Amino acid sequence: MIKNVAVIGAGTMGNGIAHVFAQFGYNVSLIDLSEESLSRALTTIEKNLDRMVSKEKISENEKADTLGRLKTFTSTEEGVKGVQLVVEAATENVDLKLKIFRQLSEITPDDVILATNTSSISITKIAAVTNRPDKVIGMHFMNPVPVMKLVEIIRGYSTSAEVTQLIMSTSNSLKKVPVEVNDYPGFVANRILMPMINEAIITLHEGVAGVEEIDTVMKLGMAHPMGPLQLADFIGLDVCLAIMEVLYEGFGNPKYAPCPLLVNMVMAGKKGVKSGEGFYNWSHGTKDLIVSSNFAKK
Ligand code: NAD
Repeated sequence: MIKNVAVIGAGTMGNGIAHVFAQFGYNVSLIDLSEESLSRALTTIEKNLDRMVSKEKISENEKADTLGRLKTFTSTEEGVKGVQLVVEAATENVDLKLKIFRQLSEITPDDVILATNTSSISITKIAAVTNRPDKVIGMHFMNPVPVMKLVEIIRGYSTSAEVTQLIMSTSNSLKKVPVEVNDYPGFVANRILMPMINEAIITLHEGVAGVEEIDTVMKLGMAHPMGPLQLADFIGLDVCLAIMEVLYEGFGNPKYAPCPLLVNMVMAGKKGVKSGEGFYNWSHGTKDLIVSSNFAKK
């Protein structure tokens, strides 16, 4: 029975994951390196809960109870005491994740389940550095966590059926829809999404159509809520490139080769919304079209 959960990393995803666990009755220890990122995370959670109160999705009491179930820690060792589940949502970096899981394996009792929210790192690889690969699993939440229904549940090579079942039902208890998938590069979500985004960039690069035209075709023609180039700007072009590289290396298939335009844009520091410019200009806080000859192959 899972009652106490530790969430490692209080960034974009970690604060959302802590929010939903606390909202649905779990005691949550939120862990990050600095007090500053923890207090920023609590401010974000409170703001998101306020929005839910104003939309009458939760009551003031539920908001207070949710906040009451959240504790913050800068020490992982302190934060994981007494938990049955750890959900790691720290920065996407293989060496960092392996270090965290090695430490978790040492400092938590053998029956504690160790989950990761990684978008692209192999669950099997992470599990292999622990003393309990049968209890290591992917719990891939989507951004923004309190809103998005899907949790991709990734079974590593050694993840047991019991642990998978327990994490599926735990996800249901958060009013999410879990989908079980096996551990291969990109899992399901990014294996399908990223090649689509990459193909949109190739289409732009080859001069088949412009940014606005490509996004309009996919929005109005396929009923996507936003076009692939705008979505790439939101995800971050550096993140899109890193995931394409995982697919390319993982499958050894040229169909996953990242578009040279994507590579160039990341090298030039054009990472999308977070850097102020990607396929669109975001520096005024709005989506402004860029007419750039750099997009087309020369
Ligand atoms: P982020 O950069 O917003 O937050 C990462 C946090 O981890 C930071 O606050 C950082 O201080 C903290 N951190 C780093 N090392 C730590 C350590 N040793 N101990 C504790 N905290 C540590 O990143 P994010 O976007 O929230 O991504 C987190 C994870 O979620 C990544 O694995 C990413 O691939 C995955 N993910 C991200 C998205 C997304 O849309 N952002 C979607 C799905 C999955």
